[in-house]
Amino acid sequence: MEPFSQKIIAWYLKNKRDLPWRTTQNPYFIWLSEIILQQTRVDQGMAYYLKFVKEFPAVAHLAKADNEKVMKLWQGLGYYSRARNLHTTAKLIMTDYNGVFPDDYAEIRKLKGIGDYTAAAIASFAYNKPHAVVDGNVYRVLARVFGVNTPIDSANGKKEFATLAFELLDKKKPAIHNQAIMEFGALHCKPINPDCNYCPLQTMCIAFEKKIVSELPVKSKKTKVRKRFFNYIVFSYKNQTIINKRITKDIWTSLYDFPLFETETELTEAEFLQSKEWKAFIKKMPYKITEVSKPFKHVLSHQLIIARFWEIKCEKPLKEIAIKNALVIQEKNIHHYAIPRLIDNYLLQK
Ligand code: SF4
Repeated sequence: MEPFSQKIIAWYLKNKRDLPWRTTQNPYFIWLSEIILQQTRVDQGMAYYLKFVKEFPAVAHLAKADNEKVMKLWQGLGYYSRARNLHTTAKLIMTDYNGVFPDDYAEIRKLKGIGDYTAAAIASFAYNKPHAVVDGNVYRVLARVFGVNTPIDSANGKKEFATLAFELLDKKKPAIHNQAIMEFGALHCKPINPDCNYCPLQTMCIAFEKKIVSELPVKSKKTKVRKRFFNYIVFSYKNQTIINKRITKDIWTSLYDFPLFETETELTEAEFLQSKEWKAFIKKMPYKITEVSKPFKHVLSHQLIIARFWEIKCEKPLKEIAIKNALVIQEKNIHHYAIPRLIDNYLLQK
């Protein structure tokens, strides 16, 4: 198995990107970068990583931070439970581990928000321990080079790929081996248009030989996308508006948005005005509709949100509309709060 590791490391040393989390062995920085980069492109994640490192240069700073501040810094990255877990784990490292990140894979794996992949990344990158990382890039490279067609999202597939990744791992150089295979998947053996013609692994690549590169890796399940229709109410009275803290177990927990009701379909203005949800919001408040936005589409991993913003000018102070968990704020202050990207997009076009 040696040639695989040697070839991939040689490729990496010539082609790797210069990324700040690659020049450190500090487990806190590595952990931060890995959590930020999950489901996020490197160019987008970089700005967040630099902001977090500047604001919280050590795990103790992150642990002490106010949760609202952490959420605000995370704003726009999505998957907000990652930010909450990051904060919880930072506090736990201070209380249960004397502020020192554990160096043992099993201990790292126990921490909230850290799965097999992240634990292997921290154990290998920070402590050079022989644990193989298996992320989307690794699945793709291994499936193609070794012609594995077991679905990567099946229990058998996960086991098979984890075993293969560990067998291939250069146990003396786990950090660089892991970095190399991930970087190779990200830059060279890409999902679409991999550069097979100039590939150091071409002679050993089964997918290339059998002309099945575009068929690998195999996934068994298609992600079901749930369509949701959000009707946001943007109340206004004398430059004030109402925002709502999301506390339910749904998307964007702990973030702020406008009062909202959800419907099965997109509403016409007549349907909106007749709906019991709207009547429950407005009660006896005198008002007029000043604007109805175009539908804003917002794509999440398993959901498609179609949101319309109903701008309502009230004729009495907003505190008379009693909404649970809502705050009456100056409109210009909304950016002091952590808000989902969808709300940001709406505010940007106003
Ligand atoms: S030959 Fe093509 S499919 Fe095979 S490893 Fe190289 S880039 Fe990937």
